[in-house]
Amino acid sequence: EPRVVVVGAGHAGVQVADALRGNGHTGPITILGEEHHPPYQRPPLSKEQLAAEEVSDQPLRGRSHFAEHDIELRTGVAATALDRRERAVALSDGGELRYDALVLATGADNRRLDVPGAELGGVHTLRTRTDADSLRAALLEASSVLVLGAGFIGLEFAAVAREQGKAVTVLEAAELPLTRALSPDAASHVAAAHRGAGTELRCGEPVSRLTGENGRVSGAIGASGTHYRADLVLAGIGVAPRVELAERAGLEVADGIVVDENLRTCDPAIYAIGDCANHPNAQAGIRTRLESVQNAMDQARHVASAVLGREGAYRDLPWFWSVQGDVRLQIAGLRMPGDDDVVLGDPADGRFSVCCFRDGRLVAVESVNRPADHVAARRLLPADRLPTPEDLDDPDFSLKGFAR
Ligand code: FAD
Repeated sequence: EPRVVVVGAGHAGVQVADALRGNGHTGPITILGEEHHPPYQRPPLSKEQLAAEEVSDQPLRGRSHFAEHDIELRTGVAATALDRRERAVALSDGGELRYDALVLATGADNRRLDVPGAELGGVHTLRTRTDADSLRAALLEASSVLVLGAGFIGLEFAAVAREQGKAVTVLEAAELPLTRALSPDAASHVAAAHRGAGTELRCGEPVSRLTGENGRVSGAIGASGTHYRADLVLAGIGVAPRVELAERAGLEVADGIVVDENLRTCDPAIYAIGDCANHPNAQAGIRTRLESVQNAMDQARHVASAVLGREGAYRDLPWFWSVQGDVRLQIAGLRMPGDDDVVLGDPADGRFSVCCFRDGRLVAVESVNRPADHVAARRLLPADRLPTPEDLDDPDFSLKGFAR
């Protein structure tokens, strides 16, 4: 039975170990996790966990789970180098581990702000449990909050801060929030919802520099020259995949660790999954890197099968969710710029879905407070029989009805 070593104890790393055991793998499995916390869920860090009275722990698995499944979990231990010829991983504690199959599930790191003042006290980022603990404590003390970047994490944080009565400003370089991920219809609705909740959302306003007093941040100056005052700043300007280990070992890297349709790197004994993996996405027909729980979990399951000799291309449907105040956004499929959008329902009442068509074929559905549409879309999109834009003209059309 092959010995499997997993680097990274996040959603992807933990799932690959579980799926191996679930598929009957009896050989040794070791998960290496650089963070000191037992594996935990990331999505609540910018949502309920930030708003909770008490710091709550949302572990990925129960305390005894790993021992019960004979999975060796080593937290606080990083993989520092790979020796591909010897099939060995060097560890930060001085040890070394041999592998037959190696799974890189190293995730991503926040991109650091690159403007004057970025090093001031009171400037936060949010990726880890440790980040969340210090952000949560700072939020309790803060009266005004500035979010740099209207991405998912920045906007989720903005919504929580607003719910706590803080003055909130969000600066975004693009003309709409979430432009990388969302249709203009859905993005405009998200922008309006934040503004309606009292957040000052400034689009087309990249930050030029941060201002400070006595080493602590006091605000930021935007490209327009406006000074936005705040005593807490969250930089939510995206992530960079953690490729350093792979790169030093001579594996191909290009916005992530490059893998083929089986999620295998150019070294047949090494796979990469989750936020760190640049893969050919069957749904979108392009190479991409996705940052979602779905992607981490489904790629983990796929690789567990591949390690056990069940080859086949990864084809799972991408999906995602985000909660921002009253807006519960759910996305199935991947929209690309230039896709044609048809809106189902009325954005004015806060419940609608945007159906995205590419060359007349439904490729993605973005749902705002319409969970039934999301569920239907996840059933429909992988299937052959799809609604056309003309089907959606029927006033009685529903995705659920069509999916039945
Ligand atoms: P990670 O979760 O980043 O785990 C990688 C782990 O590997 C890290 O713990 C890292 O320390 C460790 N590591 C890296 N290098 C080494 C090494 N050399 N040795 C040992 N360990 C190493 N997704 C959604 O779908 N919906 C959401 O609502 C949502 N909300 C989010 C909110 C926040 C605040 C954040 C940060 C993310 C959110 N995401 C959400 C994204 C989702 O959490 C990620 O896509 C997912 O966690 C990726 O899992 P992963 O295992 O690939 O990487």
